[in-house]
Amino acid sequence: MKKLYFITGSQDLYGEATLAQAAADAKEMAAYLGEKLTDIAEVDAKPVVRNSAEALDICAAASTDSACIGVIMWMHTFSPAKMWISALKALRKPMLHLHTQYNERLPYDSIDMDFMNLNQSAHGDREFGFICTRLGIKREVVAGYYKHADVIEKIRRFAQAAAAVDLGRGMRVAMFGSNMRDVAVTDADRVECEIKYGWNVNYYGIGDLCDMISEVTEAEIDAKMAEYAEKYAMNTDNTAAVREQAKYEVALDKFLARENISAFTDTFQDLHGLEQLPGLAAQNIMAKGYGFGPEGDCKTAALAAVLGKLADGREGATGFLEDYTYDLPEGGEAELASHMLEVSPVFAAEKPAIEVHPLGIGGKSAPARLVFEGVTGEGIAVSLIDLGDRFRLVCAEITLVKQPAAMPKLPVARVMWRLKPDLATGSAAWIYAGGAHHAVVSTALTVDDIRLYAKMTDTELVVIDGKTELNAFEQQLELLDTVAKLRR
Ligand code: MN
Repeated sequence: MKKLYFITGSQDLYGEATLAQAAADAKEMAAYLGEKLTDIAEVDAKPVVRNSAEALDICAAASTDSACIGVIMWMHTFSPAKMWISALKALRKPMLHLHTQYNERLPYDSIDMDFMNLNQSAHGDREFGFICTRLGIKREVVAGYYKHADVIEKIRRFAQAAAAVDLGRGMRVAMFGSNMRDVAVTDADRVECEIKYGWNVNYYGIGDLCDMISEVTEAEIDAKMAEYAEKYAMNTDNTAAVREQAKYEVALDKFLARENISAFTDTFQDLHGLEQLPGLAAQNIMAKGYGFGPEGDCKTAALAAVLGKLADGREGATGFLEDYTYDLPEGGEAELASHMLEVSPVFAAEKPAIEVHPLGIGGKSAPARLVFEGVTGEGIAVSLIDLGDRFRLVCAEITLVKQPAAMPKLPVARVMWRLKPDLATGSAAWIYAGGAHHAVVSTALTVDDIRLYAKMTDTELVVIDGKTELNAFEQQLELLDTVAKLRR
């Protein structure tokens, strides 16, 4: 089980009784938060920190403990912040600075100076905040009484983002084939991906997978076909084409498990030994939580895996989608997102149908794929791009909408959405920011989740939402470029 360290700051000055009370309070508070976070991480109450040696010990321990996904810190009493300098310089895990206190209300009848000395986070947390700012420590500050629902919600969001960052550390990503020839935005500096996010991205020849495909048994294919029949409508007589995809999925499943891989890419330009582009196979396996990026897009594949982790247990769909084409009636502009085949069935608003149709490009046999209309509701689209000197996350708020009319001849899964504040502004901003045509779309996550993930990974973030105004947006991009140049 993963852990969050709950670290309470104080100092030697107050004497044993006060420190013992602080320790008892901290334990009780950590236990309360632990109950609210059982599905994400344990909340591990650490001894109250009284001096710089203890502060350094606990922060160094958090940094090297592989079970620790982050730390929650708060100052029960005053805690002179010079004692935190070495500790904060050593801390390598995401930090939540919880600005709270043990008591909800002031005890008006009994409040005295002893109470004031024990319960002074209003004072101590400001001192602690100063040193974090002075040191340039990225952290999330959540303020309010720790039992209040809005505070719990923010702590849970922090914990989920920390769990996503943790998943990324050492996460293995497989590229079957390389980046699609000549395409720029899908390419990436894989060494930098590992330095920055911990993503270990490696190339595999499609032949490595073909070997495993050739070993799949008829019984394994039958079992996979039974799974398909249960989950999907079979709108094809071409059983052989569906069985071919079932065979791919069985092999892919084994390959990913054997190599401990969380996300993968393929490309229709490198399918030697495969009769079809993996469609149904890739779609069904994406629904199990694997990240996927087409055309060798390892950044999107990895991002889909970590954002999938961030969305764990929440209502809604998260996965890869591609900007495709527009519907442009004046005032009612919408976008149609899809892909050649590979849209995760988590986006299905209805029971997906298995269909077999030829593919216009790639020169392979007609692949089986899942076809469906997409879910509706509020969501975000997130794109991770490589600017050469840094990564940038572009996050746009979108509204997923029902397609206004049937598309009987479109043989792929599709999702429609409206951009904010409108298509003209939202799409222009996305293009100015350099956002890709591949994105991770989610109806489970919000801009706040991405803001946290960007903060924890020290990634530049630009947000496009209902308040976006192009002049200010372009100026923001210029400022970010200038800052990056100064840092170089
Ligand atoms: Mn694409």
